[in-house]
Amino acid sequence: MELYDQIFENNKKWVAKNKVSNNDFFAHLSEGQNPDILYIGCSDSRVTAEEMTGVKPGQMFVHRNIANLVPNNDNNSAAVIEYAIAHLKVQHVVVCGHYYCGGVKAAMQALDLGILNPWLRNIRDVYRLHKVELNGIKDETEKYNRLVELNVEEQCANIIKMAVWQKHFLQTGIPQVHGWVFDIHSGNLIDLNLNYHEKLKSIQEIYDLGTTL
Ligand SMILES: [Zn+2]
Repeated sequence: MELYDQIFENNKKWVAKNKVSNNDFFAHLSEGQNPDILYIGCSDSRVTAEEMTGVKPGQMFVHRNIANLVPNNDNNSAAVIEYAIAHLKVQHVVVCGHYYCGGVKAAMQALDLGILNPWLRNIRDVYRLHKVELNGIKDETEKYNRLVELNVEEQCANIIKMAVWQKHFLQTGIPQVHGWVFDIHSGNLIDLNLNYHEKLKSIQEIYDLGTTL
């Protein structure tokens, strides 16, 4: 059977399985959502947000795009972040990159990829910001991995630059911001342990939106 045809069969089994463990499973889901986490990850088919984290339906609000970006004037990610923080009141915002990311790889090459160019330029901007460190890494795989990590770090910084995050964080202490990397080679999820308090301090001079008032 083709994968496409199998999907509806899989769905029927999934419905039955969930009803066995809890007959009200779907009735409960239809009442609304109250997720603790906003997850922003890559669209890559190998990086399965819910499966690799073991979260259940209703626990994690998910946004995925090529190379897990939060670009300055991207209404799509901005709307997701605004809704998750201001309305769903998530406790944690996670940006999750992954090693062997095709988007990051493409941004490291001299390639014209049409409409992908402006999107991938966000990653080239990360490279430019960290050019000294990255050019100091001679091993290409190591450099590629490091750019994946720095890209996650800069996307977290982009969230910290947003008024909705500054306002809620400075008033309530949440949501916390986390940078993760999924290591496809081992399956492990790595917490980059970013210090977002320090990050806020370091960018506040320029990106302070006066939201403490
Ligand atoms: Zn990717």
